Amino acid sequence: MANKQLRNPILKLTGVDRAYHEAGRELVILKDADFSLQRGEMVALVAPSGAGKSTLLHTAGLLEHPDKGDVILDGRSCSALSDDERTAIRRNDVGFVYQFHHLLPEFSALENVMIPQMVRGLSPAAAAERAQQLLDYMKVGPRASHRPSELSGGEQQRVAIARAVANAPLVLLADEPTGNLDPQTAGYVFDALEALVRQSGLSALIATHNHELAARMDRRVTLKDGKVVDI
Ligand code: ADP
Ligand code: MG
Repeated sequence: MANKQLRNPILKLTGVDRAYHEAGRELVILKDADFSLQRGEMVALVAPSGAGKSTLLHTAGLLEHPDKGDVILDGRSCSALSDDERTAIRRNDVGFVYQFHHLLPEFSALENVMIPQMVRGLSPAAAAERAQQLLDYMKVGPRASHRPSELSGGEQQRVAIARAVANAPLVLLADEPTGNLDPQTAGYVFDALEALVRQSGLSALIATHNHELAARMDRRVTLKDGKVVDI
């Protein structure tokens, strides 16, 4: 069983190319890139600004199409899927956390975590119960009725993390989730994120500039000559 799981990563990128075209020039970001995330694994993506971390995460999370290659989520090839199918997978199977929280400003923290669950078909009561549990777990339970503008940066990111895992995704992708926070707050937010990932057996790929946080993950990768390599 263990061997089978090793051969069957939860997320796999194979032969991925991605280039941007601007003013007639080609900027190659990913070139024949491969990457595997094993089940339950927490991997840090560490690379300088502009190296392509967001591009890799957006491609892995089906937010961007690779020019070539495939993204395989839980054994399912995503390259040939329709936009509707990709949207459904994004909604149900991928959790995404951005550097800036991107919470909906006119809704409370609780509602922000309820909404993705209700979009998936849960009743408001069931969604509210799970949302409150997740906010409690992220240690922002008492702030549930507040709007994002009434929360601190660290609290906003904790709510954003709770929202990202609300639908129990297969993978959590986080793009410098503590990048806007002071070091101490970043540490607290990462503690809560790590506990959540470990406790739920989630698999996570987390871009970070913070080497201390990167050191706490199972493995570290970087981007080099368009490829994902271990460091
Ligand atoms: P990182 O997240 O590591 O800072 P990005 O993936 O955001 O890097 O960007 C990698 C490079 O691609 C950067 O040089 C960036 O300016 C460029 N880039 C990103 N998105 C686009 C786009 N939509 N059009 C043109 N260039 C882009
Ligand atoms: Mg980025």
